[in-house]
Amino acid sequence: MNKRWTYAEIQKFVEKNSDSKLLSTEYHGFSQKLLFKCSCGNNFEKTFTKFNKNNQRKCDVCQPPKESRGAK
Ligand SMILES: [Zn+2]
Repeated sequence: MNKRWTYAEIQKFVEKNSDSKLLSTEYHGFSQKLLFKCSCGNNFEKTFTKFNKNNQRKCDVCQPPKESRGAK
């Protein structure tokens, strides 16, 4: 079962678990793309599911979508 997140919870999660900032001011559900600001200054969009479960917590520049396994 998936936890149902509230906007406030997501905002806290983003603050605690990433260097990015949440720019979106509303959260309507897991399929919605949220707008984030990366620590490098880029804005990027991602669903919270990806942000959370797939550890995609930075922009595509800092964290390219395709990571080769074993790098780092
Ligand atoms: Zn970045």
